[in-house]
Amino acid sequence: MGIFRKKETTETNVALPNNLNELVLKSIREGVVVVGADGNVQLVNPMASVMLGRSTDELVGLSYDSCITLLDKSGNKILGNVNPIVNSIKTGDVAERRDLELLTAGSNKTTPISLIVAPTNGAGSSVVVTFRNIAKELEEERERTEFISTASHEMRTPVASIEGYLGLAMNPATATVDERAMQYLNKAHESSQHLGRLFQDLLDTTKLDDGKIHTQMEPVEIVSLVREMADAQVPNIQAKGLVYQFGTNSADKQYGGLNINQVIYASIDRDFLQEILNNLIENAIKYTPAGYITVNVKADDLNVQIIVEDTGIGIPRDETEHIFQKFYRIDNSDTREIGGTGLGLALVKQRVELMNGKIWVESEQGKGSRFIAMFPRLSKDAYEQQRFLFENQQKMRAESEAHERAVQAFASGNAPTTAIPTAPQPVQPAAIPQPTQPAAAPQPAPQPAQPQAPQA
Ligand code: ADP
Repeated sequence: MGIFRKKETTETNVALPNNLNELVLKSIREGVVVVGADGNVQLVNPMASVMLGRSTDELVGLSYDSCITLLDKSGNKILGNVNPIVNSIKTGDVAERRDLELLTAGSNKTTPISLIVAPTNGAGSSVVVTFRNIAKELEEERERTEFISTASHEMRTPVASIEGYLGLAMNPATATVDERAMQYLNKAHESSQHLGRLFQDLLDTTKLDDGKIHTQMEPVEIVSLVREMADAQVPNIQAKGLVYQFGTNSADKQYGGLNINQVIYASIDRDFLQEILNNLIENAIKYTPAGYITVNVKADDLNVQIIVEDTGIGIPRDETEHIFQKFYRIDNSDTREIGGTGLGLALVKQRVELMNGKIWVESEQGKGSRFIAMFPRLSKDAYEQQRFLFENQQKMRAESEAHERAVQAFASGNAPTTAIPTAPQPVQPAAIPQPTQPAAAPQPAPQPAQPQAPQA
């Protein structure tokens, strides 16, 4: 009996057609392809055949890589182990992606798709690949994001002004109010701060969604950087009467103390890392009535883990997978009185993922929470090479900006009294017209040559 077949009962006695599986596959509005463990296509439904641009007869028997062309957002083919089909066959893991495009053979048309690759029987088995056109969904998401972004931007300004005036009203140097009015003003001030934070978080999350914020990845020594950033939060931790520790005495021996002289390298965006740590530590403070907040950095050969741990209220097991969703807040007797927007962890997750990382939480209700952000580790050699490139790029960018400013000043008649700084020329600096020769127009900044990575 097939899995689709309904058990016949004497009451309903509905006869189901024998080719029910085929009919179901035909009627599905998603593309369905079964790829064997050898990588050859075994089965294709009509929607898949339309989206792939070939007949089902043509497709069956072909190697998946000659007929299912997946492209990333920059239009590059997804090959080898990063291809979700290859990866799922090898590992037996289910893959879900929403960031890929599918190329239709013949027309060269690409379609944004939602893709799921599900192995039929663990590692080394055939996989069922389903995909769906999400062009309309993405367009709707873009419109929604734009609306939220404009609305929060417009509302942030009057809220900032309300907050400012409330501040003036509450300041004895600028206003006189009685005790009861002060209480009301305090409440209004708290709410306006909450609203301001909400609009700022909304704006940040829409910018991250839109891809309007780009990472500026920098190779760094991560232990000292995390320590410096986390240390900045010590006054807030102590103001709540909590104890701060860096890299020591974790309650769980598995995450036990780090030798803080350890040198670990990784590539991160400084602003993102600061936001992530601020957010995790602010949450740790907010959800910890008493005890410790510990920040730790650990690494194995491949990865670095940045850990923020507290001895607070903890998170119920069935909530841990939801708390990184936008606007998700746990509603129970422990959390009800604690304010928040439910956007902090969603922003943390977005930022971690934009830096090629992962984040998750381990927690026990009533005992505390441990948030772990994991990033690829850099070897010392890779760090030195990337650092060399990074510093060169920074230097050239600064020189290019200085040159641009000087050329603009020259063009607008505000010729500098000193010579225009030369455009960055790593090999041979070009001659730049001097301001004493106004007839000669300044040359546009030559494009700096790309620095080459030093050979390992
Ligand atoms: P919020 O603004 O509500 O704090 P977040 O997105 O930062 O929003 O967190 C989502 C939810 O996860 C919170 O409402 C809280 O219930 C839970 N949470 C986050 N951090 C912690 C923590 N350190 N300890 C216990 N619960 C936490």
